[in-house]
Amino acid sequence: MTTTKITTPFPLGQPAFVSNVLDRAAHLRTDDAKLFALESHRDARAYVMFRDSLVVKQDEARPRALLTIDEAIKFGANPGTIFLGLRDGAAVFGMGIGAQAAEKLLGRSDVAVSELRGMAMQGLLPPEQLSAIAMAKSMVNWHQRHGYCANCGTRTAMTQGGWRRDCPSCKAEHFPRTDPVVIMLVTHGNKILLGRQKQFPPGMWSCLAGFVEAAETIEDAVRREVLEESGIRCSDVHYYMAQPWPYPSSLMIGCTAQAINEDIVVDHTELEDARWFDRGEATLMLARQHADGLTGPHPFAIAHHLVGRWLQPA
Ligand SMILES: [Zn+2]
Repeated sequence: MTTTKITTPFPLGQPAFVSNVLDRAAHLRTDDAKLFALESHRDARAYVMFRDSLVVKQDEARPRALLTIDEAIKFGANPGTIFLGLRDGAAVFGMGIGAQAAEKLLGRSDVAVSELRGMAMQGLLPPEQLSAIAMAKSMVNWHQRHGYCANCGTRTAMTQGGWRRDCPSCKAEHFPRTDPVVIMLVTHGNKILLGRQKQFPPGMWSCLAGFVEAAETIEDAVRREVLEESGIRCSDVHYYMAQPWPYPSSLMIGCTAQAINEDIVVDHTELEDARWFDRGEATLMLARQHADGLTGPHPFAIAHHLVGRWLQPA
């Protein structure tokens, strides 16, 4: 018997963005003198983000995402560091870079502006750094999009090491947001429910998912999303694990649920299709060996691990 081995930096139970090596050291965020000293120290490092990409040094064995502060500034990163935390006592910061500065780097051989997801999927970035990179990406994006007070429209100022923006006019305090999303593996006996969104690569199927709405529990969000998208009613909703998803700032809350009915009614505004898959098909899809070329979600994503765990022998 041959076994299928998937080569991945994301073993079962460890999708991207979950292994964090940083101590957030939140008590330092209010200590401006200490933050200044940490940033001035030669061991300080920064992740420099541009939209869905990051700036990496590439004249070494593998791309290096952790830049010195000098490198970050030389490459054109914007002033204004976001304190992400401490790694072995040294500070790690997040920084943003503008379109013009990013464009200037395009012709260089020693630096690249590379799409984060692609590099992570190929295993080009150390998996244990992805959580800190996700933090940098979400935080840089938040500062870029929340420069003005939502209460009175005045320009706000970064404070608390980047973890708050304050309005000088109405004194409102603004905090970075995290948007909860439920993603669920719905089972019915020996089958699982997977769906296809129009923008998925051809042949790829994944777990259903959707935003948690105001004043909604996780369990209710799972039941509502599954019913809306597929016409399937669920019971026995259980939490499995979560995955930060910095596009731009979601938290994927992975759950399992049991279907009560089997007759699928697809909401075509949300999904291209939804159907049941048995264990044999799901196994081949995760291994990318399905005869019809169907595939499951990449190990980068929590959906892969929801399906993978279900396939594990009890
Ligand atoms: Zn204001």
